[in-house]
Amino acid sequence: MAKILIVEDNALNIKLFCDLLSAHGHQPEAVTDSRQALDAAHDLGPDLVITDIQLPHVTGLDLIRMIRADEQLHEVPIMAVTAYSATGDEERIRAAGAQAYVAKPISVVRFADTVEELLRKPRAASETEPHVIDARDDGPAVPDDGEPA
Ligand code: MN
Repeated sequence: MAKILIVEDNALNIKLFCDLLSAHGHQPEAVTDSRQALDAAHDLGPDLVITDIQLPHVTGLDLIRMIRADEQLHEVPIMAVTAYSATGDEERIRAAGAQAYVAKPISVVRFADTVEELLRKPRAASETEPHVIDARDDGPAVPDDGEPA
């Protein structure tokens, strides 16, 4: 069971995310006002933060940067969810410090898989090789051309 802080201004998405996370045995807590997100994170000590990007007051990108700059929270994994997927969005989100990015409308399977992946990820940056969340095993990337090994 993991404590997961959700920052999302849309009530339907909060319900969906909370239902999904609870079904996977986790303990979700949601804030709708991103101005309260940092305080909520300090109180909760979450194992993962899931944040919307399009938020009033403090945007998701700013919130991600604030978490990364926070002494207590800088190592917590962050997953961003966003309705926009313009070119460069994912790069901006990752540059701000989120480890993963899921586009809305979310795929329930991808959402759940990404959560579990981030929770499994070792915290210590020194451990093993870097892990790329988006590298999915969708079968061989290169077709077998029959060339002898
Ligand atoms: Mn929003």
